[in-house]
Amino acid sequence: ESVDEFWATARRHLIRYAHNDFVPAIIERAAGSEVFDSEGRAILDFTSGQMSALLGHCHPAIVECVSRSVSRLDHLFSWMLSRPVVDLAAALANTLPSGLDRVMLLSTGGESNEAAIRMAKLHTGGHEVVSFDQSYHGVTHAAGAATYGISRRGYGPVAPGNLVIPTPNAYRPLFERDGRHDWRTELDHAFAMVDRQSVGSLAAFIAEPILSTGGVIELPPGYLTALKRKCEERGMLLILDEAQTGLCRTGDWYAFQHEGVAPDILTLSKTLGAGLPLAAVITSDEIESTCHDRGFYFGTTHVSDPLAAAVGLTVVTVLQENAFDRTARQLGDRLRRGLLEIQSRHEQVGDVRGRGLLQGIELVTDRESRTPAHDFGGAVTQACFELGLHLNIVQFPGSSSIFRMAPPLTTTDAELDRGLDILDQALTTVAG
Ligand code: PMP
Repeated sequence: ESVDEFWATARRHLIRYAHNDFVPAIIERAAGSEVFDSEGRAILDFTSGQMSALLGHCHPAIVECVSRSVSRLDHLFSWMLSRPVVDLAAALANTLPSGLDRVMLLSTGGESNEAAIRMAKLHTGGHEVVSFDQSYHGVTHAAGAATYGISRRGYGPVAPGNLVIPTPNAYRPLFERDGRHDWRTELDHAFAMVDRQSVGSLAAFIAEPILSTGGVIELPPGYLTALKRKCEERGMLLILDEAQTGLCRTGDWYAFQHEGVAPDILTLSKTLGAGLPLAAVITSDEIESTCHDRGFYFGTTHVSDPLAAAVGLTVVTVLQENAFDRTARQLGDRLRRGLLEIQSRHEQVGDVRGRGLLQGIELVTDRESRTPAHDFGGAVTQACFELGLHLNIVQFPGSSSIFRMAPPLTTTDAELDRGLDILDQALTTVAG
């Protein structure tokens, strides 16, 4: 089949599910931090697939685990248990502070947040869910309702009871005091709005500890502690969605540990399956117990599937055996230093931010006005791809233009430096 035939068939038979065009390459194979196209060209994958291939593509331990498991135990009736499921639940609980001991295994991030929100509703008796205006939690009903608006344009109203507050963004602050981001005032104002809008039925606040799709926006130091207090004062649960930040990527096992504030419910997905569909909801005995007593039901087709659980167990074991939290910190420092150097050479790099191996750079037309450089960003993405680096750009209409970088934890120093060189070169070429 020729390349032209491939694209003709793709155009004829695929439903286009994103706002963007498909990446213009036929990917035949992936290994480690690279994907290879039909012409044999190696492309560095600094998005880890869809932010999931935490251990690089086709990691030998995962390949071995899938091959071994699939010929032995694949999929079971939803309420039938197997060892990999119970072992993974215990292994995850072991990586977490006590109080996060109960685990349910599902397939996708949206699903895990859906389940977490249902549990928060049952436990609190409320139905209102609050989130940040730049959050991404999925495309399903409740998770989608807590996700930024442009992802659900055209489908009518979302679930009643969804409230949003502004994302605290140090680069684009709403309030400043003495030239610094005054996030405390922002948060107080936001919750004053929540209290005014609420019908007195608050169930949960759902958040990513670093808003990734929203533009790699870290919550300011102290924010999570203050947010947790706001939740407690109102009898709401705090749900943290660590789809991207969980399992060592940011240099800690979980991003919430950076501030030492544990959520009431934690959801994991992307990184947990390291590229295969696996997600988890994790909570306390108390919440599990009230939910069960009140009839909690989440019997999906792939709940507690042994094959996916075996993969998750391998991921946790590989992370532990290689102390990948430390690796993420070291590689993250190298990436950060490289990006800061690039910033020193390119006026369009307005901000460098992130933690560990989740870094972002915000592109602006000039640093004074901080005007988003949308077209420039698009052209740089394309130039990077042509030079052999796949990067993801997140663009919010009328707001910002940010490159997201999350290479696998197995990336070598040389690969990291090659990616940085390509980015530098692409910025130079496009700036002309
Ligand atoms: N939460 C976060 C933080 C995410 O980044 C994503 C995916 N981009 C999701 C949830 C949704 O996960 P899924 O696409 O697997 O449903």
